[in-house]
Amino acid sequence: MTEAEQKAAQELLDEIAGLSRGWKRKHRFMEVCGTHTVSIFRAGLRQVLPEAVELVSGPGCPVCVTPDSYMDRAIAYARREDVILVTFGDMLKVPGSSSSLGEEQAAGADIRIVYSPLDSLQVARENPGKKVVFLAVGFETTAPTAAATVLEAGRQGIGNLYMLSAQKLVPPALRMLMSDPEVHVDGFLLPGHVAVVTGTEVFRFVAEEYHLPGVVAGFGPLELLRALCRLCRQVTAGEARIENEYGSVVRTEGNPHSREILEHVYEPVDAEWRGIGTIPLSGLQMRKEQERFDIEAVLPIVVPSRQRKSACRCGEVLRGIVTPRECPLFGKACLPTHAVGPCMVSVEGVCAAWYKYGQGKFRFGQ
Ligand code: SF4
Repeated sequence: MTEAEQKAAQELLDEIAGLSRGWKRKHRFMEVCGTHTVSIFRAGLRQVLPEAVELVSGPGCPVCVTPDSYMDRAIAYARREDVILVTFGDMLKVPGSSSSLGEEQAAGADIRIVYSPLDSLQVARENPGKKVVFLAVGFETTAPTAAATVLEAGRQGIGNLYMLSAQKLVPPALRMLMSDPEVHVDGFLLPGHVAVVTGTEVFRFVAEEYHLPGVVAGFGPLELLRALCRLCRQVTAGEARIENEYGSVVRTEGNPHSREILEHVYEPVDAEWRGIGTIPLSGLQMRKEQERFDIEAVLPIVVPSRQRKSACRCGEVLRGIVTPRECPLFGKACLPTHAVGPCMVSVEGVCAAWYKYGQGKFRFGQ
C-alpha cells in the first residue's frame, strides 16, 4: 500500500469508528463471496475494525455449498468405464457421503483437472469414445462460461460433452438468510464478481423487503473499507438501500450478454445447499432444448441418499451462526491437508481462511 492509500484507509477506519460510537449495539455485516472472505482475512480487516462492527462470512464459496448428494452422483459417474470426469481441482477433496473424487482418482477413475469449462471441449474432442462430464459448480460468476461451453460444443458438433450441473444463484440465498430466525445480520457486503453479471437491481429486495443495507464491494482493502464505511453510514442514518462501491467494474444493468447466454442454456430450479437445505429457485438446470448436454438426462443414475455422520458444523458456519473456531474439529481433526468438511477444502472456504489467516496478527497495509 502506498502512503496515500494508508492515509485513506486510516481516514475510513476513523470514520467507521466515529459512526459506530453512536450505536447502541454491535452490528454484523456479512460477506457472501468467498473472494471477499479471503481478501478480508488477508488484509487483516477484522482486527482493525472497532468492536461494534463485526464481519461474518456467508455461503459465498461454491465448493463449500455443494452437497454430499451431488458429490455422490459425481463419484457414481466417475466410476463408469465410459466416463471421463472433468473438474476444477478443489472439487477433488470435497467429501461425498463415503468417498471423494480424489480417492476415486487414486483408485483409477479417469478424472481430469481443468482451469476453465472451455478446456473440457478439447478433452471431448480427443476422446470421442468416452462421455466427458464437466462438473458445473459455481455461482453467476462462472455459470456463463459453462453455458458458453455448451453452446460451443453445439457449434462444433461435439456430441460427447455433458454437464453435471450444480450452479447456484446468490439472491435466493440472501433471501433464505434474511428469513432464517437463527441468522442475525445488519447488512451485506454484496459480491462484486457476481454483480458484474447480474447488475445491482437483483439485490434491491434486500433493502425494499428486508430493510437492510447492501453495498456491492470490490476486493482490495481500500475498496472493502469504503464499502463498509457506506454500510456504517446507512446504519447510522437508519437507511437501507443498495449502493455500488465497485462502479469501475459493476454496472447497474450487469452484463446483458452473459445473462443472455445463461438464460439460453439454463433455467432456475430449487437447489440443495450443503448444510443449509433446499432453497427455492436457487439453482440452475439445463433447459429442455439443451438436454442432450445434460448427463443426468442422457445417462440417469440413481444414487441412494446417505447421510454422513460428522461433527462438522459447516451448515452453521455458512450461515454465520458460528465461527469455525466453535467447531470442535477446527485445527484438530479438520485441517487444510485433511479436510473433514468442504469449508476447509477450498481456498475460498471460510474455515480454510480462518485457519490460514485468522490466527495471525494485523497485516493491514503491509
Ligand atoms: S472446521 Fe472442518 S469440520 Fe469444522 S465446520 Fe469447518 S470444515 Fe466443517
